[in-house]
Amino acid sequence: MAVPVMQRAIAGDERAVPRAGERITRDAYGRPITYLRISLTDRCNLRCVYCMPAHGMKFAPREELLTDEELLRIVRVAAQVGFSRLRLTGGEPTVRPNVVELVRAMAQIPGVEDISMTTNGLLLERLAYDLAAAGLKRINVSLDTLDPQRYRIITRGGRIEKVWAGIAAAEDAGLSPIKLNAVVVRGFNDDEVPALAGLTLERSWQVRFIEVMPLEGVAEVHDTGLVTTAETRARIEAVYGPLEQLEAPLSDPARVYRIPGAKGTIGFISPVSEPFCAFCNRIRLTADGKLRLCLLRADEVDIRGLVRSGASDEALMERIRAAVWRKPWGHGLREGDRRTGRGMSQIGG
Ligand code: SAM
Ligand code: SF4
Repeated sequence: MAVPVMQRAIAGDERAVPRAGERITRDAYGRPITYLRISLTDRCNLRCVYCMPAHGMKFAPREELLTDEELLRIVRVAAQVGFSRLRLTGGEPTVRPNVVELVRAMAQIPGVEDISMTTNGLLLERLAYDLAAAGLKRINVSLDTLDPQRYRIITRGGRIEKVWAGIAAAEDAGLSPIKLNAVVVRGFNDDEVPALAGLTLERSWQVRFIEVMPLEGVAEVHDTGLVTTAETRARIEAVYGPLEQLEAPLSDPARVYRIPGAKGTIGFISPVSEPFCAFCNRIRLTADGKLRLCLLRADEVDIRGLVRSGASDEALMERIRAAVWRKPWGHGLREGDRRTGRGMSQIGG
């Protein structure tokens, strides 16, 4: 019987080591790492309570951020290494100047097969058509509540009507399937879980409920506000009855369910109560040019410095491969290790 590559790696089997010419880059545990999440900016037009602290948020000086040219070069090299799927995030990716041109340029890079985006949706009404025409395939929109006043409180000032207009434009532009991300925080929106899940009855969206993580600056929100997936699911089932589980790729962080008869689906993302590190297939590129190997661990590998030193493509490829190899097995939340070093908006969630 074939032994899965991950188990081979754990057993120290040399067949798990990437072979010369192999286009899929694997980490030291044999996990194929093919998905790059790119933070286009650490800036944002919102200040969500679970993402940024109320005061003292610092943004990187402009000269520390990757230029368009530097970013595209890194993506080109990463695609050569084997990163075929890209997700643009932030901060808020749509506030990056030239976001449409960046998507267009990335879509033309050989080896890039899929580009998606995670956004708060505020600027989508204006950008969705151009983004889709440029090569963006899919979109995740963050929406934690259906109530305009609550939305204003959770995001510290956002207008929910803009999000709905953005979602409508994204649908019209063919950016599908549409996924809505809701971070569940006790006392803010936990009572709205059934109503949010109810959106899937008539719409073919996926509503994803995310456990709040203790990133830098918001650990307190996690400590006082964490609602586990088990509780969220129980709240939904109390209203709609038992959910049907659907198949989903193991590398999808969401476990996917359906309310019987619903058009859309429900996803649960449970990094705290049921970590999915074993099937992690991603690393992140921060807006200031660091390869972040695990969302919740501070270990980062610099790539901006290498680009700015005039390094060859081969040297960049080697640095990316070495970073992938160094990817840790998993995060340390269960062991009480919370040294994440940065906030979510600075990493690219
Ligand atoms: N600004 C965009 C947005 O809000 O969709 C993209 C960046 S945001 C950091 C990416 C995702 O991370 C969003 O779905 C957001 O809700 C989620 N997020 C932010 N802080 C989080 C936290 N502490 N725990 C869990 N998810 C978080
Ligand atoms: Fe901005 Fe997204 Fe963070 Fe909200 S979750 S503050 S929209 S980066």
